[in-house]
Amino acid sequence: MKYTYYFGPTKTEGDGEQSLLLGGKGANLAEMSNLGLPVPPGFTITTEACNYFMKHSAFPSDLISQINAKIESLEKQMGRKFGSIDNPLLVSVRSGSKISMPGMMETVLNVGLTESTVKGLAKISGNDQYAYDSYRRLIMMYADVVIEKSNNISVDNNLGIRSQLENFMNLYKKKINCKSDAQLSGNDLKIICQEFKTIIYEKFNAHFPDDPYIQLQSAIEAVFKSWNGDRAIQYRNIENIPHNMGTAVNIQSMVFGNLCNNSATGVAFTRNPSTGENVLYGEWLEKAQGEDVVAGIRTPNPINEDSRSNNSNKSLTLEQKYPDIYNQLCSIKEKLEMHYKDMQDIEFTIENKNLWMLQTRKGKRNGVSSIKIAIDMNKEKMINKKEMLNRISSNHLNEIMLPNIDPIEEENEPIITKGLPAGPGGACGKIVFSADAAQNYHENGQSVILVRKETSPEDIHGMFAANGILTSRGGMTSHAALVARGWGKCCIVGCSDLLIDYNKKTMVVGNNKFREGDTITLNGTLGAVYGNKISLVENKIHDNDQFNQIMQLSDQYKKLGIRANADTEKDAKIARTMGARGIGLCRTEHMFFSPNRILSMRKMILATTVKQRTEALNELLPHQEKDFYGILKAMTNYPVTIRLLDPPLHEFLPTKIEQIESLAKNIGISIQDIKNIINDLHETNPMLGHRGCRLGITYPEITKMQATAIFNATKQLIKDGFSPKPEIMIPLIGTDREFIHQRDIIDSVYQKGNYDFQYMVGTMIEIPRACLVAEDIAEHADFFSFGTNDLTQTIFGYSRDDIGGFIREYISKSILENDPFASIDVRGVGKLIERAVKRGIEKNSDLKIGICGEHGGDPKSIHFFNKINLDYVSCSPFRVPIARLASAHSNL
Ligand code: PEP
Ligand code: MG
Repeated sequence: MKYTYYFGPTKTEGDGEQSLLLGGKGANLAEMSNLGLPVPPGFTITTEACNYFMKHSAFPSDLISQINAKIESLEKQMGRKFGSIDNPLLVSVRSGSKISMPGMMETVLNVGLTESTVKGLAKISGNDQYAYDSYRRLIMMYADVVIEKSNNISVDNNLGIRSQLENFMNLYKKKINCKSDAQLSGNDLKIICQEFKTIIYEKFNAHFPDDPYIQLQSAIEAVFKSWNGDRAIQYRNIENIPHNMGTAVNIQSMVFGNLCNNSATGVAFTRNPSTGENVLYGEWLEKAQGEDVVAGIRTPNPINEDSRSNNSNKSLTLEQKYPDIYNQLCSIKEKLEMHYKDMQDIEFTIENKNLWMLQTRKGKRNGVSSIKIAIDMNKEKMINKKEMLNRISSNHLNEIMLPNIDPIEEENEPIITKGLPAGPGGACGKIVFSADAAQNYHENGQSVILVRKETSPEDIHGMFAANGILTSRGGMTSHAALVARGWGKCCIVGCSDLLIDYNKKTMVVGNNKFREGDTITLNGTLGAVYGNKISLVENKIHDNDQFNQIMQLSDQYKKLGIRANADTEKDAKIARTMGARGIGLCRTEHMFFSPNRILSMRKMILATTVKQRTEALNELLPHQEKDFYGILKAMTNYPVTIRLLDPPLHEFLPTKIEQIESLAKNIGISIQDIKNIINDLHETNPMLGHRGCRLGITYPEITKMQATAIFNATKQLIKDGFSPKPEIMIPLIGTDREFIHQRDIIDSVYQKGNYDFQYMVGTMIEIPRACLVAEDIAEHADFFSFGTNDLTQTIFGYSRDDIGGFIREYISKSILENDPFASIDVRGVGKLIERAVKRGIEKNSDLKIGICGEHGGDPKSIHFFNKINLDYVSCSPFRVPIARLASAHSNL
């Protein structure tokens, strides 16, 4: 079996299509080599080899011989030998799975350096300092990745070996009064390397291997194992990446950004990942290796003016220092974008003024820039309109609808410090200094800002839990920035004024000291930090051209109608600006709670005769008319589905003794009588009790009053020049007789009144029996609207209010894939819906069918509703844009 694929200027065995086998990085290295770009030669070990290793805890039998053969080819091409004293070949060993998992798996650089080859390297480069700096990096990485992490060893209270070696190096620098790594001489570094080895032996009772082939083999094993490291697993769980793909390993000849003064390293995006602007955007560091940029240890310089931020004002750009190399990079940007038809994230190294490309991959970006890039690439004729729409996800849209901080309050609040705007939007919350604390606060329902010097993949759970992230170090391509951008999270990095003390749990900026639990606010779009609470406000997305463009295009491709669930005139107006074309569910129960109505409602419930009940309902009638007038007016020309009263009546009665006393006084009956009625109304299981159409059947006066209010409002609106389209919906129907009973009342209200307009009467389908006898109900109904909340509850038998007690375990134990109240259960609930749709339409071809449960705003569920040809979905007003886009996606 072939486990290794070569790439380089003379021959390349793989290509960009093979990312499952070669991982994203390996496939792209092969593809860049095929494009003729300057890629240091190397080879990729396949994900199949990794999967074999995971299963058998050993390499496949012929892997070593294949690796050795590829090393020989590399030696020939580079004119160097692995393990040679005179002219050593050094390689990097990097992970790379099909789906990028930035920073979650391991890398070892400079493999091949030993006591003897380091001398050879010093000789051929004429640079002791560079050779021993490379050696100490290898020792450090090897100890961390291969000896410690891959063997799951924890030493000295979890203070990892890397920190211990770094501490030693800092102490050494202090001792000799040296400020930066670059000032260390070859001899200093030689001493440091020796001491590193001693520390490693003391901690692990194991030697750092002096054999290049052992280094290589162990590094490969460590990278394989890192696929199942805790943080990689956590990341895959959060990002929904399958656990069985495995990682490839890329072995590549080293080129050195730390070789001499004419060497450097950098990372860049082919377009700005925050704004989407079509400019090369990146950072570089002189005399450094790639890890220095990504780790955020040194704050890098901008590569051009477009990448310059407040923090990097004076530093020299790559464009200024090496204009030729910068131009070469710009033409590579064009070539890569034309080839991949997408924005790329590239890594490069300059070794003695020669540019080398180390990586290209699809660049992570936030919602704002995803949308701009998709629209621009369509304008630039790189992608067509359908592709453009497919590249914009509901998450991106969510992000441009994210809250921002209130600009007026912001104006009056002094900025305490500024950093790099790594993730847009606003966030306000209590500060914490560790990922675990962020998770705890979040689980207690608190908004939280995670403050770190820099983040690492170990912080991933806290970053996920936090509302915003703030770091004192790092640049726009640091770990914090990449992860936050991928999630569309508000994030500010490189806030160098911040003095953070993890032990004291404090953060000091100038004269201000903040402790854990203090509230701050971030403006991630500007990179500004405020020392107080500032309110968050919604985005005015309807003023946004790009948003409107996406919505128009979505409407062009979508088939489903999109309505909103709204109970007030205000929400109906918002729904309309969001693009809803109708209301799919107007719940009427909320209308009875305002202070000017609740008394009449309670009188109605406490009535002991029909006369008393009718009197109380007559008090409610004008209020209801006003409600329906406002909503039908806001949605003029579009249908409004008004649901008759649904919840059990006891929900409207007071529970506290003072309230009961006041009610008794107000309506002139005894406290004991009220208590008796409340007792009588008590139900063991109100969800399955006296609610929905059962109320209208036992108290027909309620249905009569609501129908009258709807018809009166409609009549008045027509008189006032509007075009209302009322649809009356009867809840919780289980038999056709229930439906007929309620419909007769509504129709007779219409017939007895002086009305002349069209209206519809339909039902919610929200209990299983309604699905099973849909054909009987369809004969009498004008429409069906699936109430998937109650339908899920009654099909699963899970209480919708109590599922929180077990759902997380059900998901973590893979008993359910997801919460069926969030995303429709296609196999079970979906099957009954499909049956009801089919039989309903067979009986009544004019039947209109929609859905108004929470699933109406969930993209996955929308995909199912589109497939089974519903007429519309209805969701909360702020989900409407997402439903429009998701509906277009399903059709595309
Ligand atoms: C439903 O049951 O799906 C529904 C929309 O109604 P409610 O959530 O008000 O019960
Ligand atoms: Mg319901």
